[in-house]
Amino acid sequence: MYRVTIDRDACDGVFACLTRDSRFVEDDDGLATLETSSGDVEADAETVEATFADDHAADAEAAAAACPFDAITVEEVSES
Ligand code: SF4
Repeated sequence: MYRVTIDRDACDGVFACLTRDSRFVEDDDGLATLETSSGDVEADAETVEATFADDHAADAEAAAAACPFDAITVEEVSES
């Protein structure tokens, strides 16, 4: 499993992430959020976070690498 986190304070709406991973979408505030049917998305004013158990971690990592503000974090998490 892996967790994807967007730091909304760091995000500046460049949307380089959207072209790397279609789970990243623009929200009503013009910032990136996550939209998916396969993971639970939790969002508050500062962060958007979702945990996935699929084989698309590389897509999320590509989005993280493309973000000019390092607003995206992808980390392995253990099953619980
Ligand atoms: S690439 Fe980074 S700054 Fe740009 S929208 Fe995505 S998360 Fe936000």
